[in-house]
Amino acid sequence: MFRPETWSSNSSMEINDSISVLKGIGRKKADIFHEMGIETIEDLALYFPKSYEDRRSVTPISELRAGSKVLIQARIVNKRMGANRFKKKSPLMLNVSDDSGMLEVVFFNGYFLNKLFDIGKEYVFYGSVSENLNRFQIIHPEFALAGSSDDVRGIIPIYSLRQGISQKEMRRMQMDIKDIYSGIKEWIPEDIIRKNRLASLDFAISNMHFPSNAKKVLQSRYRLVFDELFTLETGLMYMKGAYGEVRGISIDISEGDKFISRLPFELTSGQVESWNEIKDDLKKHKKMNRLLQGDVGSGKTIIAEAAMLSAAASGYQSVIMAPTELLARQHFDTFTRDLSSHEIVPVILKSSMTASEKRMATKSISSGDAKVIIATHAVLEENIVFKNLGLVITDEQHRFGVNQRRKLSGKGEGVNILVMTATPIPRTIAAILYGDLDISQIRTMPKERKGIHTYKCSRGERERVLNFVKKEIKAGRQVYVVAPLIEDSDSIDAKSANAIFDELQDRFHDYRIELVHGSMKSDYKDKIMQDFASGEIDLLVSTTVIEVGINVPNASVMVIENAERFGLAQLHQLRGRVGRGSDDAYCFLMCYIDSELANARMNIITSSMSGFDIAEEDLKLRGPGEIFGTRQHGLPQLKISDLLRHRDVLDAAILSARELIERDAKLENPESIMVKQKVKKMFGSDISIDL
Ligand code: ADP
Ligand code: MG
Repeated sequence: MFRPETWSSNSSMEINDSISVLKGIGRKKADIFHEMGIETIEDLALYFPKSYEDRRSVTPISELRAGSKVLIQARIVNKRMGANRFKKKSPLMLNVSDDSGMLEVVFFNGYFLNKLFDIGKEYVFYGSVSENLNRFQIIHPEFALAGSSDDVRGIIPIYSLRQGISQKEMRRMQMDIKDIYSGIKEWIPEDIIRKNRLASLDFAISNMHFPSNAKKVLQSRYRLVFDELFTLETGLMYMKGAYGEVRGISIDISEGDKFISRLPFELTSGQVESWNEIKDDLKKHKKMNRLLQGDVGSGKTIIAEAAMLSAAASGYQSVIMAPTELLARQHFDTFTRDLSSHEIVPVILKSSMTASEKRMATKSISSGDAKVIIATHAVLEENIVFKNLGLVITDEQHRFGVNQRRKLSGKGEGVNILVMTATPIPRTIAAILYGDLDISQIRTMPKERKGIHTYKCSRGERERVLNFVKKEIKAGRQVYVVAPLIEDSDSIDAKSANAIFDELQDRFHDYRIELVHGSMKSDYKDKIMQDFASGEIDLLVSTTVIEVGINVPNASVMVIENAERFGLAQLHQLRGRVGRGSDDAYCFLMCYIDSELANARMNIITSSMSGFDIAEEDLKLRGPGEIFGTRQHGLPQLKISDLLRHRDVLDAAILSARELIERDAKLENPESIMVKQKVKKMFGSDISIDL
């Protein structure tokens, strides 16, 4: 039998050598390894097991159960070759016995294995137990002579491999390069290793491949997950250059405090906490870079107003950028009302203004007369110049790219940045996606807000839902019906907004029904939304264009067709469009498939009103790969880290990455050279940046 010790005498091997210097690696295997991203000995050493099998204890044959994977130690009682047309494909059948019982071990194509087994000798076998005619069998177990230095028993690493490379081969190869693990240089700066009490790199690598106990594996994994997340975060921070210009504008916050003390209501605890965090940032001569997360209706706007007022009172301009004209107008109305007692007249800037309106707005922005500015993307244009911009806020951040945020803040120097979002990204994920941002969360809702009765409904219940809709409209309420598609499609079995519009127009012909979707002109969409807001429209059929929309307190019912086709975050946001008034509100999730996953997802929505909880549940259900996969956000794929499971490591890695970047923003000190190489290797060509 092929024994590791007989072929591990590769003493001249170097860590950067190609894996083809290893015995047993021909062209074909090298190609497979290449597909797995393994080119060099170092790559191989850093290819870690995805899990482990505990094969330390031997199970007596008398205690076997079908279906379980077991390690047994037994003597060969007899062996025979079964019949096959081709001699070399004949099965080998062994009868083995420990003191407790007998078992059959079968190898198909066992011809060549025959000579490895001697009657009377003891072997260990590892495999799945199956039952055949009331007798237990193990088919194709791993095996070794008992007492030999085998790799069948113990804590056995399991690698994720491709066809053509077996677990056993992989283990042998690791055995072969084991002696040169220590040739992989430590690359994390020493103080960071010390502070985080990280295991040494070669300890971690050896224990991942050759674990002696569970504790060492945990220590090792922590170290290596840290490596990966530290590289990721350092890379993000380096690239975003967030620490290139640390000095920022300091803003006096007393005006914001005054504004808040005069509000007719008390801030919720989440608002208080977030406001305090924002105040701390604003006061400092350091750029604020903060993400403010809070469900729709949690009261983020008040916080934005307080911050912008503070900037104005400190002599600085501030701007809040909204993703749609509608939202901008809504903010403009709110701000105009709320800030009048502070003698601030907000200025609005958007594309749909007349040329002369635009000219006036542009002028007051460049002269510095405009202190508080509400804008759409129009503000990003080159010709919009600020006199002394001190604070930039983007509302509904997920509608903007990082570049737009930077472009806006680039219109001043040391500008404080606040990004607001109602998309409930779990803190862990946000920390990764917005690696350069501090995070505030408003998890509380203003007290008097009512819950929204949410129901999952089947096809058979649609009639009842529509009757209910009619009743509500009769009572003077307004209704949204949302569909996943604009038009019917041959390939997708789902309701379209067009078809539903036709259907409901027939059905509710006494009422005003309108349709709005993404491929309509924005003027027209705006007009429809305005009419809905003012109560002229009773029922609005739409696609998700209303996702980030207008506040219509009289709207009491949200019907979502083919709810199974929407993401949970999206469903939650859609639901948030109703329940903004004092009446009871309802959300019907029309779910037309009956799968376990669909049911589980609908249950999450019906049983929770917190966007944060929903996002976390969704994450658990689908795994981070699907919704919040780093890949989808243009980030590199993570090899051993799991953003959900390794939160604590992530926090530590972020702190350390920040420390390193703070003392060496360009990663050019000797201690950072290898870190930079790691970053480069991780990000590769995924992100075109000059490293
Ligand atoms: P968001 O922008 O987070 O979706 P808004 O700021 O628009 O939410 O707030 C929604 C509504 O709740 C507004 O009418 C606002 O005046 C009100 N509001 C905000 N904070 C409170 C509070 N602490 N108590 C009562 N009402 C509040
Ligand atoms: Mg808002």
